[in-house]
Amino acid sequence: MAILFASDLHLEDQRPDILRAFFRLLDEQKPGLERLYLLGDIFEVWLGDDTPSASADALAEKLSALARDGVDIFLLHGNRDFLIGPAYAARCGATLLHEPVLLNVAGRKTALLHGDTLCTQDTDYMAFRRMVRDPQWVAQFLEKPLEERIAIGRSLREKSKESAQEKQDYIMDVTQDEVVATLRNLNVELLIHGHTHRPAVHDLVVDGKPAQRIVLGDWYKQGWYLRADANDLQLKPFPF
Ligand code: MN
Repeated sequence: MAILFASDLHLEDQRPDILRAFFRLLDEQKPGLERLYLLGDIFEVWLGDDTPSASADALAEKLSALARDGVDIFLLHGNRDFLIGPAYAARCGATLLHEPVLLNVAGRKTALLHGDTLCTQDTDYMAFRRMVRDPQWVAQFLEKPLEERIAIGRSLREKSKESAQEKQDYIMDVTQDEVVATLRNLNVELLIHGHTHRPAVHDLVVDGKPAQRIVLGDWYKQGWYLRADANDLQLKPFPF
């Protein structure tokens, strides 16, 4: 029985092509599929489960049908959709998990992350993250009227785009020391994450033992997915 992983779809209503491609992937991958993990930034932005979104409605319908057919579905938050709540997860027939998620993948001790916590050199972002992941901040934000949340979300995204253009390439990627510390602290041999949009399989050695970091790609121009069975796993692109 297989496990499927994907992340960084960045769904938005203006990009129905991404959703169509993802649905095609799910249809193709369904035979023998036991579990599906979506590792965050499924949506370009999420401002609360009450935000109207055609793509969110369509995804919920597709995932809940998959869940009814016996696939266990798990959602993790990304930096753009960390406000996905239990109400939307329930509409998807999915379980919302908080990182790090520890599990066995292809016989290896594995941790799942979105990946933003590995980018520690982006100190501005790490400070912002601490602020917005505070449960009190979340509760206060979600109490605001929808129009106000949409306006705040728009201004935050504009600021983030401006600052990303000023940042050096290495700042936007993971910090190698943080990767090693995470593997060590979680006592795992495999890390699977997204976020950086740099799909790759990295071979590492941690405390003299082999380890791997698998990075899922984004879905702007093509999709990326990882399928794992009992003994093997493969990261593959998925053409639109
Ligand atoms: Mn991200």
